[in-house]
Amino acid sequence: MQNIEWSTLPFGYLPTNYNVRCYYRNGKWGEIEVSSETTINIHMAATCLHYGQEAFEGLKAFRGEDGKVRIFRLEENAKRLQSSCDGIMMPQFPIEKFEEAMKKCVQLNADFIPPYGSGASLYLRPLIIGTGIRVGVSPADEYLFLVFATPVGPYFKGGFQANPYVITRKYDRAAPLGTGTYKVGGNYAASMRPHMEACQGGKYACEFYLDAKEKCYIDEAGAANFFAIKDNTYITPLSTSILPSITNKSLMFLAEKMGMKVERRPIHVDELATFEEAGACGTAAVISPISRIDDLENNKSYVFGDGKPGPQSEKLYNKLRGIQCGTEPDEYGWITMVEGC
Ligand SMILES: *Cc1c(COP(=O)(O)O)cnc(C)c1O
Repeated sequence: MQNIEWSTLPFGYLPTNYNVRCYYRNGKWGEIEVSSETTINIHMAATCLHYGQEAFEGLKAFRGEDGKVRIFRLEENAKRLQSSCDGIMMPQFPIEKFEEAMKKCVQLNADFIPPYGSGASLYLRPLIIGTGIRVGVSPADEYLFLVFATPVGPYFKGGFQANPYVITRKYDRAAPLGTGTYKVGGNYAASMRPHMEACQGGKYACEFYLDAKEKCYIDEAGAANFFAIKDNTYITPLSTSILPSITNKSLMFLAEKMGMKVERRPIHVDELATFEEAGACGTAAVISPISRIDDLENNKSYVFGDGKPGPQSEKLYNKLRGIQCGTEPDEYGWITMVEGC
């Protein structure tokens, strides 16, 4: 076990021991390889560098109260990576290989898995890049899959908390029939200026985008889906440009199990005024409760509850966190156990 101050660890990169790689050459994926290099050596004409042929994932491994190590919804991440690959003409990475790579990466970096109760976890960042040489715009013939692990601290340093968010009308995140549904690097390059301008150096936790066509429905945040609660109903946007969050999918499922109604439909900005609770959801925070959404261009402010996380959000948060750490049973097959760490 490393001597790390787990509870104050940021969401950032801390060097670990090994990463795991796999190369696609001559029309097929090779064997999983282990590396202790932190750099990659690629050709300057690789498609990832010029044309953004890149997709990534983000998932976490948790040490439970029982000392065992669990990865949350690994198969869902594997499938979403395959969908991202399809979306930008990269070969799919097989689900079994994905599982092998994640387990290996966790085992090899077992010293860096934060202890139970610290709120910290081991973040896994798989990615695939086009490494084949191209000058004209076309898919590469060679690819590199890579996953590295790094411990990340708890999202909420001072306990579960609500934060203000802001609507950005000046920019779109993704086109209605564009690449918004894929976790590809280009989407995030496009979000950096909107984020910087909208969040004003930390005044807001994150920006919300509206649908690019009508500019009146809530799409999602830069790297988190939106949900709201009213009348015992969990409501989340239906849109062709949002990234299908696995956390959101899990919360929808749990909300239904807890006796709530679940609705996936367009959410008009005006409807924000009617919600009892609202949140942003994703792997980093599970739920980041929203205290307020400002719509600066329209001079409007939507406040949810009393500025603290709402009761339904808190219930959902605790349930999901419990499953991740093994204090709640894994009734739905969401957990992959990692042996030997
Ligand atoms: C990764 C991501 C999310 C969250 O997805 P999870 O699977 O819940 O981590 C939501 N929106 C965007 C744009 C993302 O990139």
